[in-house]
Amino acid sequence: VGGVVALLVGTFYAVDPEQFFDATMRGTTVSAEARRIHDAAIVIDLHADTMLWNRDVRVRGNRGHVDFPRLREGGVDAQAFTIATSLAMLPIAIHNRWPVETWTSPRARFLRQIDRFAGMTKGRDDVRIARTAADVRVNAAAGILSVFHGVEEAEALGGELDRLDEMPARGVLFLAPVHMIDNDYGGNSAGDPARGLTALGMQLIERMNELGILLDTAHANGKTLADAVALSAFPPINSHARVKAVYDHWRNLSDDDIRTIAARGGVVGIMQGGIAFSEPSSVDQVIAHMEHVISLVGDEYVALGSDWDGMIQPAVDAVSLPSLTEAMLNRGWSVERIRRVLGENVLRVWAERDHIVAEQAARKEKR
Ligand SMILES: [Zn+2]
Repeated sequence: VGGVVALLVGTFYAVDPEQFFDATMRGTTVSAEARRIHDAAIVIDLHADTMLWNRDVRVRGNRGHVDFPRLREGGVDAQAFTIATSLAMLPIAIHNRWPVETWTSPRARFLRQIDRFAGMTKGRDDVRIARTAADVRVNAAAGILSVFHGVEEAEALGGELDRLDEMPARGVLFLAPVHMIDNDYGGNSAGDPARGLTALGMQLIERMNELGILLDTAHANGKTLADAVALSAFPPINSHARVKAVYDHWRNLSDDDIRTIAARGGVVGIMQGGIAFSEPSSVDQVIAHMEHVISLVGDEYVALGSDWDGMIQPAVDAVSLPSLTEAMLNRGWSVERIRRVLGENVLRVWAERDHIVAEQAARKEKR
């Protein structure tokens, strides 16, 4: 073990992993019509791993894919800054020279990222945490960028479900029980396919239901996904995925997975690149994954789940996102369909969650 750690430390001190993830398309010009449709729509992206890196999101950078100025240029109205906590993030923690406790503790990795983000949004009036779907609409109308969080892997709780309680106030909208490996909560898409949601995983979902935290089924295997969706009080989201029918990879969703999510009124956020460079990176490929979901279950269940600043080389970064809208237009998509996929589908799920949370609160009041 000591040797492996020494090798990891050495490698990630020496190599800059960010250099491999530059977007294939930057600052592309689009037609006036595409830009107009894009700007008029509410645009929401469900997954960016930006906080894994040491960049300052307040400043326009030229590395990676996302920061506040680039989101603005690309017409993004709301961005999920996801917090990835699994052990697979160890090499990045080492590369970033994060404090040593983050090398061993998922909870420390969670706090490192979410505290740093809170520090960068504090006191700003042009960037605000959105807690409801209505917040997103109000902010968008006022030219304010909405931000919110997803959490990747329940290991962030350090084994204590009580720690979920603080998350909604911190801007956490959704949580994915599993990430890169099978864990105490359920099975991962590369792990044991027979491993479903565990007893602890069931307790987790029940607590999330009480707190208004949406289930993110990303990275779960088919059984864990189905078990968790059945237990969730809210429509599920799959914050970042691609589909097996277009590209057969263990990370991608099966048709059954997609049907399970759609049957509960959820959404699938489509990634801007294949996981770990597993597919050619192009806008056409992004559209192909979206169109498979549309042909299978309809256009109410597709969303943007870029995985920007994650382990992908994206077809478009935040700045060049309008060129995806142009590609949708060129494929003959209606403006209504484009608006759904860009953000309205996410707002529908979010508003339904807000409605259920309000009902739960009213019932509690009565008791
Ligand atoms: Zn992920």
